[in-house]
Amino acid sequence: MNEAILLKTGEIALKGLNRGSFEDILVKNIRWRLKPFGAFDIQRAQSTITVRPKSDDIDLDEVCDAMGKVFGIAAYSRALVTEKDLGTILRDAVAYLKDDLSGIRTFKVEAKRSDKSFPYKSPEISREVGAALLSAYPHLRVDVHHPQMTVIVEIRDFAAYIHGAQREGAGGMPVSSSGQALLLVSGGIDSPVAGYMMARRGLKISAIHFVSPPYTSARALDKVETLLQTLTDYTGNITFYCVPFTKLQEAIRDHCPEELFTIIMRRLMMEIAVRVARAHDLPALITGESLGQVASQTILSLAATNAASDRPVFRPLIGMDKKDIVAIARKINTFETSILPYEDCCTVFTPKRPKTRPTLRYVEESQALFDFEPLLAEAVENIEEKVIRLEW
Ligand code: ATP
Ligand code: MG
Repeated sequence: MNEAILLKTGEIALKGLNRGSFEDILVKNIRWRLKPFGAFDIQRAQSTITVRPKSDDIDLDEVCDAMGKVFGIAAYSRALVTEKDLGTILRDAVAYLKDDLSGIRTFKVEAKRSDKSFPYKSPEISREVGAALLSAYPHLRVDVHHPQMTVIVEIRDFAAYIHGAQREGAGGMPVSSSGQALLLVSGGIDSPVAGYMMARRGLKISAIHFVSPPYTSARALDKVETLLQTLTDYTGNITFYCVPFTKLQEAIRDHCPEELFTIIMRRLMMEIAVRVARAHDLPALITGESLGQVASQTILSLAATNAASDRPVFRPLIGMDKKDIVAIARKINTFETSILPYEDCCTVFTPKRPKTRPTLRYVEESQALFDFEPLLAEAVENIEEKVIRLEW
């Protein structure tokens, strides 16, 4: 059978004159994602990218699953590629859609004719295909308003395409089309979701994580790497920076007011993240903070943390409830890993009574009680860098 996968671009279509470059990035991402499956022919026309396998042994279900995770694709479907001849189309539609139609009762047909030399107009094609399906499958009924399935017949330049159920794509914009940013990732539920959300807006993600051995274990670091590995399904490869943070945390414990331990720790994380971002040309940071979730995420705490960064900090979860964040974590398969019980450096030296309304001045004065600069420089010096790759 001669099949293809049709990918519908979403928001890209709104990009006007920039559309071409967005599509270039999307096609490049698609090509990269297709590599492990074999050779494909890729064409684009009228906000559809057509992917055709060059050999028969490629499992299109697997390819579809992979395409369902590429940002910039709004919807996708498998389609039969057939001759531009009405008789052939009717016969092939009946055979090809058999399984799809057996489980439903109502359908409609939508025809699209971009090849205007095809002798039948769209309404006629729809009518003919609808009639052929009704006579082959008498359990069906046409419902033009709320069909369980819309059968699509497209008459394009080089072939006709017949497709059944369309699936929703990953949406958003192609990774890299918005540039790059650095995700502060912990082993928790929130930050992986934040990374996913910003990748969906077209950012290529790098990640930074702070570890405090022996207070935090190797297993906690493994957990973070597993989370990032899971994210690569959507984000592609992630450059990962692991920062040794123990000495800074001990210095905070020894020299700063206990009620500010977490805030000052957050600010030092920001300072290091900014240095890494500067060195690697990453214009923005991303965190998983959500307003009011914990003491370090009240408006004044966030203001104090924010003041430690000279570049924009994206907080896509800021207005979200935990339950909605969890729903996304489940969808992207990070949840089960996130809830494993290993400690994070945030849970080391946590104050019994954290200050929930710290003024920036009080925080800055408290941080100035100790000269953190040498330890900051040392931490940056000892960062371990590696690339977490999408596993084929
Ligand atoms: P998460 O579920 O992402 O851990 P959280 O609700 O537990 O979030 P915090 O632990 O207060 O919140 O952390 C707030 C944010 O700070 C995180 O979302 C993350 O962006 C960043 N962060 C926390 N701990 C680390 C860490 N060890 N390394 C890097 N970033 C961190
Ligand atoms: Mg956390």
